[in-house]
Amino acid sequence: MFRKARITLTIWYLAIIMAISIFFSTFIYIGATGEFNRILRMQEYRREHPEVRPRLIQDIQLQYQNLPIEPDPKVIEDAEARVLESLIGINLIIFIMSAISGYFLAGRTLRPIKKMMDEQNRFVSDSSHELRTPLTSLRSEIEVALRNKSLSVVNANKILQSNLEEVINLQILSDNLLELSQNGKLVSKNLMEDLSIAKIIDEAVRKTVSLAKIKQIKIENNVKDYKIKGVFDRLTEVFVILLDNAIKYSSKGSKVEIFSKVENNEIKISVKDYGIGIDSKDLTYIFDRFYRAEGSRTKHGYGLGLSIAKKIIESHGGLITAESKDSKGSVFTIILSKT
Ligand code: ADP
Repeated sequence: MFRKARITLTIWYLAIIMAISIFFSTFIYIGATGEFNRILRMQEYRREHPEVRPRLIQDIQLQYQNLPIEPDPKVIEDAEARVLESLIGINLIIFIMSAISGYFLAGRTLRPIKKMMDEQNRFVSDSSHELRTPLTSLRSEIEVALRNKSLSVVNANKILQSNLEEVINLQILSDNLLELSQNGKLVSKNLMEDLSIAKIIDEAVRKTVSLAKIKQIKIENNVKDYKIKGVFDRLTEVFVILLDNAIKYSSKGSKVEIFSKVENNEIKISVKDYGIGIDSKDLTYIFDRFYRAEGSRTKHGYGLGLSIAKKIIESHGGLITAESKDSKGSVFTIILSKT
């Protein structure tokens, strides 16, 4: 498909360049032949009116006494033909050079579009793949239940409960996919306002504390308040993702710490856990869509949270980093400019 587009674009480049080149060549040809004919007419005039010959021309002609001063249309015709040949030659060279450089330029122009389309296709195929697994299990569970003529109410209830869980997960997945598909529009600059970091963290903690309680995990909030510019809901979402992961990937009774500091006019807010940690080979990929480290595949999650968090932080002009030493817990740090 891109080969065809590249050739079409090359033809367009070529057509534009050749149209300009032929336009100017025609002007050059008309100008040159006009000039030749003017010289011819001047010669004829001089022959017919020798008395009005300018002094300078007479002097020149004295030097070339042996040369015929008769006007010679044949010489002019030859000159015209040579000009035409040169112009055709030049246009041919321009044609070949434009075709080569046009093809190269078309490739360069289409490269970012191709990259974007490849990414889009990968996104669609990854999403379909992720949707297929829960849908298949949902379908087979329902089919098995329907075939069972002696299904008790208690068992039917259990199946419905499990189906509901799958549906909720699918809903989370589709919400996440929708969020990720809003390329670049995840955070609108018009919605940005002056915010307090402490309030954002308080809200994120409030949203995750019940999950932490289930695992008896203590959330230690040591955040000092700073002002930043951003969108409250979006930034809260980032910290919910980080806290949710910290709880999800930590064992029962563990703790999660949140702290902040200012360095070089930048605010750094970290979420630290003492959980399973992240292998160094996974660290570079965890912000990629659908990436899940080997050990966490069985846990809930589609590997979309961190890529959403990264997107939100980047649209705030910030940075998100992850560290994990010897796979003993992890530290996620958000870096934002101070207002
Ligand atoms: P998921 O929904 O699978 O947690 P994320 O994008 O939030 O997706 O995270 C991607 C992967 O990064 C996770 O599957 C997990 O392997 C790893 N990860 C993220 N946060 C942590 C953490 N705090 N501790 C250990 N591993 C983590």
